[in-house]
Amino acid sequence: MTDLPALPGIRALEEEMIALRRHIHAHPELSFEEFATADLVASKLQAWGYQVHRGLGGTGVVGLLRQGSSGKTIGLRADMDALPIIEQTGLPYSSRHEGVMHACGHDGHTAMLLAAARYLAESREFDGSLVVIFQPAEEGDGGARRMLDDGLFELFPCDAVFAMHNMPGLPVGKLGFLAGPFMASTDTVTIRVDGVGGHGAMPHKAVDPVLAGSAIVMALQSIVSRNVAPLDTAVVTVGAFHAGIAANVIPDHAELQLSVRALKAQVRDELIVRITAVAEAQATSFGARATVTVDEAQRFPALLNHPESTEFARQVALDWVGEDGLIANMQPLTGSEDFAVMLERCPGCYLLIGNGDGEGEGGCMVHNPGYDFNDDCLPTGASYWVRLVETFLA
Ligand SMILES: [Zn+2]
Ligand SMILES: [Zn+2]
Repeated sequence: MTDLPALPGIRALEEEMIALRRHIHAHPELSFEEFATADLVASKLQAWGYQVHRGLGGTGVVGLLRQGSSGKTIGLRADMDALPIIEQTGLPYSSRHEGVMHACGHDGHTAMLLAAARYLAESREFDGSLVVIFQPAEEGDGGARRMLDDGLFELFPCDAVFAMHNMPGLPVGKLGFLAGPFMASTDTVTIRVDGVGGHGAMPHKAVDPVLAGSAIVMALQSIVSRNVAPLDTAVVTVGAFHAGIAANVIPDHAELQLSVRALKAQVRDELIVRITAVAEAQATSFGARATVTVDEAQRFPALLNHPESTEFARQVALDWVGEDGLIANMQPLTGSEDFAVMLERCPGCYLLIGNGDGEGEGGCMVHNPGYDFNDDCLPTGASYWVRLVETFLA
């Protein structure tokens, strides 16, 4: 138990919430394979009186709870998927599924939203409709888009939609809000460099794609520094460079994989144009040929928090926990989040909850094999959802 803020009715559910979170942590499932997690979520929602809809985005689960006569509707979204990481926390509730790990805290997000859903089904102190959205495949596979394609907002039209993500390095249980661009767009780009293979001892008889590829890696670094305005945000990372298998063989091709981030659509477009031009021209200068492809399935826009919804969400937090409970000077992040596509279709806000800023526990970054969701956040996060719903549907 901590002294972090929580509603008494949520505090009463704390032990159950922790047990549930750890159960989900021990049984992680990869994107679009959240079968057991979805079963668990659906059975609980059903038991609490929600109208449950399954199959949106494959393993997605949506629960609808109506109360009173107002036509107003709020949507709350949690993500359910885990990552292909070998867990190294050594915790008693470590992953039972080798090579799969809840290293982004989606176990915590699911547990928080379930606890709020249960509380609201019992208290029913709101007037309108509550839609709880349990999304599959947030980690790069486009679960949000799949849910939209399957008719999420046609079946469940929402006046506003909200999502919450934990963030290590920020004070535990504090809430962070920022209107406008908050998370970056992401594009995955592949550059294939074709040369001419040959003997390592006779490079003049070959066209070396390793050298051309290396020049491309170096030249790409000029884009952020020379083509993007100094006050704009952009990242070009070459995360993979594959070529060759032997010291004495010049391979015939090389492949680079890039992660490209921006906070503005215009910067994002310019990055792709420049990456293509730089890669092609560099390759040509070595007598090689570069082919640049952008993976359409791995593209996500920047996350833009709607000003009105963000101000509303922030005010709810402020009225409840005061200035002290908020993260001061929230800055945009260069990570990405596919909730961005839901915000393209519906007003809303994505907020953060601090996971702790200590060494190790809580402060270990998401996607690290030593990461764990901080259970101290559970009552605060769930209580915030309740306060948000009760205020939105007052
Ligand atoms: Zn993640
Ligand atoms: Zn995540």
